Amino acid sequence: MSENRSSIESRRQFMKTAVVATAAVMAGGTIRKLFAAEPHLTDADPTAKAMDYVDDATTSKNSLYKPGSVCANCQLYTGGSNGYGNCQLFPGKLVSSKGWCTSYTAKAS
Ligand code: SF4
Repeated sequence: MSENRSSIESRRQFMKTAVVATAAVMAGGTIRKLFAAEPHLTDADPTAKAMDYVDDATTSKNSLYKPGSVCANCQLYTGGSNGYGNCQLFPGKLVSSKGWCTSYTAKAS
């Protein structure tokens, strides 16, 4: 029993459409992840609390804090353009570029 040409073409077209649709969905997910806003770290976070993290370094009462030390010049900080960036210690959350915690490590100059 042989299939007619129209049926084969129709199946081919369906497969092409399915591949394109799958690729579009996967690309959409990746793009959404890239642009999804990560939540800001707050000093209410248990890990942040344990490390005395503050959004504004100048408000720190920790004796280890030295004026001028901020996330923006810490080795563990990867800056963002809006005053927030990633810290290796807090994956999935953004720290303030003006923040500070007890794990502060000055960038090598
Ligand atoms: S380790 Fe550095 S970048 Fe991370 S929160 Fe502490 S001071 Fe900021």
